Amino acid sequence: MSQTASVRDLTDADLRGRRALVRVDFNVPEGDDTRIRAALPTIEYLTSRGATVVLMSHFGRPKGVDPRFSLRPVADRLSKLVGRPVTFISTTDLAAAATATRALPAGAIALLENTRFWPGEEQNDDTLARAIAQLGDVYVNDAFGAAHRAHASTEGVAHHLHPAVAGLLMRRELDYLDRALANPARPFVAILGGSKISGKIDVVEALLPKVDAMLIGGAMACTFFRAMGLEVGRSLVEPDRVDMAKDLMARAGTRIILPHDATVARAIDDPGSAHAVKRDHIPADQAMYDIGPDTAASYGRAIASAKTVLWNGPMGVFEKPPFDAGTLAVARAMAANRGATTIVGGGDSAAAVAQAGLESKMSHVSTGGGASLEFLEGKTLPGVAALDEAAGGAA
Ligand code: ADP
Ligand code: MG
Repeated sequence: MSQTASVRDLTDADLRGRRALVRVDFNVPEGDDTRIRAALPTIEYLTSRGATVVLMSHFGRPKGVDPRFSLRPVADRLSKLVGRPVTFISTTDLAAAATATRALPAGAIALLENTRFWPGEEQNDDTLARAIAQLGDVYVNDAFGAAHRAHASTEGVAHHLHPAVAGLLMRRELDYLDRALANPARPFVAILGGSKISGKIDVVEALLPKVDAMLIGGAMACTFFRAMGLEVGRSLVEPDRVDMAKDLMARAGTRIILPHDATVARAIDDPGSAHAVKRDHIPADQAMYDIGPDTAASYGRAIASAKTVLWNGPMGVFEKPPFDAGTLAVARAMAANRGATTIVGGGDSAAAVAQAGLESKMSHVSTGGGASLEFLEGKTLPGVAALDEAAGGAA
């Protein structure tokens, strides 16, 4: 049974004339409106059905009230995107905030101040959760990116305000990831990279039984190379994970695919020394910073013949050309496979896709790095588990 199929969403909630308290993820860097835009369908859906929209989000990691982490500028950015005024409710006294939400005209949009200004938010304090529940008549969680945290605004509140339903972005995120895991069109190819195998091991374990092939890149590959007894030079390896990598390879058989060549250099700041070598020729005084061109081409072919592609973690140090080549090759191969469901999870992988301008060419780019990782690990997301079950329950 999946947590996704059973969750109730806002399409069957009674909304007219009611205050929809919507947890969004507006934890957005200056100049990047991706996450704000991602919440627009839910906001528009709610206003078009006569609801008053009360938005709340965390922003940064303030210790208590701190004007540097105010959401006020985000209210202005949101207002420009929706083309309508957005009322900013600046008080952090939740009783006063509740009064302010009741005074809003039908169809209005308001944004509350940073949820992390509220004492007890991150401790999921129950008294706070009850106070938050007074801010709306319906709870809508659209903050997929925060769903892996059991905080008062993402989890606790859902116990005190019903209906508690998923927003459209949440629904979309869950549907894509869930379908890929539960019922993928095959061949199902996963591509895993990034810096550390230790951070991805649970994903590897969870995906291995489901995929037809798992293509490995990033520094992670170097720990596998070490497990094979290869020289890895000054590459980033996790020595305490070498035995684990050995064990994984023994169990996975031919399903785990490792790079056969590497782009190496003397140092990350010496791109002029970058060149490709076979994986058994990594010089002792150099490091692997990307998969090599032969590997990029063969991974591209594997992606081209897949029906479901799931990608998490860059193939190399994509922030520094020319070490972005492998990551770009994967992104382009996914973008070119129009017949496949292509899903990108992971903050840095999503950033690489955006940097390449290929976002719209993917079936789905997850807005939640940590949350998508935990979902792929097979973990229950507390912010999802707390929502109401759909009528009829899980299929
Ligand atoms: P994601 O956020 O997509 O899950 P990770 O956070 O796991 O990805 O990993 C991204 C980081 O991994 C990037 O900062 C990238 O520079 C780094 N990385 C990838 N390959 C290598 C490598 N060969 N050596 C060092 N760092 C690497
Ligand atoms: Mg990352």
